[in-house]
Amino acid sequence: MGAESTLVIGAGLCGLTVAAGLARAGVPVTVLDKSRGLGGRLATRRAGDWRFDHGAQYLRPKSDAFAAFMGGLGPADWPQVPGARVGTPGMSALVKPLSSGLDVRTGQGVSGLARTGGAWLATDRDGVELARAAQLVLAVPAPQAAALLPDDPLGVQAGAVPMDPCWTLMAAFEARPDLPDAMRKTDAALGWIARDGGKPGRTGETWVAQASAGWTRAHLDLPRDAAAAALLDLLRARAGGRLPGVLHADAHRWLYAQAAVPLGQGCLSDPARGLVIAGDWCLGPRAEDAFHSAQVALAALGH
Ligand SMILES: Cc1cc2nc3c(=O)[nH]c(=O)nc-3n(C[C@H](O)[C@H](O)[C@H](O)COP(=O)(O)OP(=O)(O)OC[C@H]3O[C@@H](n4cnc5c(N)ncnc54)[C@H](O)[C@@H]3O)c2cc1C
Repeated sequence: MGAESTLVIGAGLCGLTVAAGLARAGVPVTVLDKSRGLGGRLATRRAGDWRFDHGAQYLRPKSDAFAAFMGGLGPADWPQVPGARVGTPGMSALVKPLSSGLDVRTGQGVSGLARTGGAWLATDRDGVELARAAQLVLAVPAPQAAALLPDDPLGVQAGAVPMDPCWTLMAAFEARPDLPDAMRKTDAALGWIARDGGKPGRTGETWVAQASAGWTRAHLDLPRDAAAAALLDLLRARAGGRLPGVLHADAHRWLYAQAAVPLGQGCLSDPARGLVIAGDWCLGPRAEDAFHSAQVALAALGH
């Protein structure tokens, strides 16, 4: 694979890292993402003046390469969790430097992929062409990659990677609940509780609580309001049975939050067809895994 035009699907950390690397090498690259914003699961939700990191909570680099890369994204320390680094004013801000100068098109949900005449063609749900390029990098969660390439051997391999779901509560209170700034694996139902408003650059008593994979699976089809109410009940129980006045409560369901069992190799690639499939799930459940997968994808593309 080489300097041919490349289409990257997914503007999360992995897709943008690949795209930025290709652009630096002089490869014409287009990025499509179905969402309105960038960052994928490095996500920040706004509600009025409140902001909630409802996806990744913080990054804690393990490798020197990721630590150096992170340094260039302008993170801040979150002292309540030793070694944790966060984006300001939200986690999604971390990917902004990566997208600078790139042709990134948001609100572009890809429903079909086909290789015709030596090029990859991406189409929307009506079959209308969104983009075409000689090479394709699919940087989306494993089940979504599999759904886009159901008959492709690489798509089938991606489809074998299980990903856990996660219901997430985003709540704002009149005062501080009786809880520490960050709590992990608080019980069988809640995997994480954090005072989001206590991260650098935030304001307000905004809190995020993330359900365990088991609780989420058992409540997967709850309507959003019911999930928010149920998660508030769980949070109240953790806060000694009392919560201050609730100013805001909403829930987000991540169907594909984190890899339960990663693929075990940096990416899937077929040089003859100019196809690479990458993402955190290739190597693990964290953003750092998305970064390392992107490096392997770039190498597979010859960069
Ligand atoms: C609840 C939760 C908590 C987490 N906590 C942490 C944490 O504390 N620390 C940590 O390091 N990691 C954490 N993670 C994991 C971290 O967020 C991911 O590892 C990382 O963000 C994955 O990046 P990615 O680029 O591989 O995928 P994504 O960020 O998922 O990016 C994929 C992109 O593809 C787009 N897309 C999907 N399908 C299509 C389509 N058909 N057409 C167009 N676009 C499409 C999506 O909109 C998305 O923007 C957490 C994740 C979740 C969900």
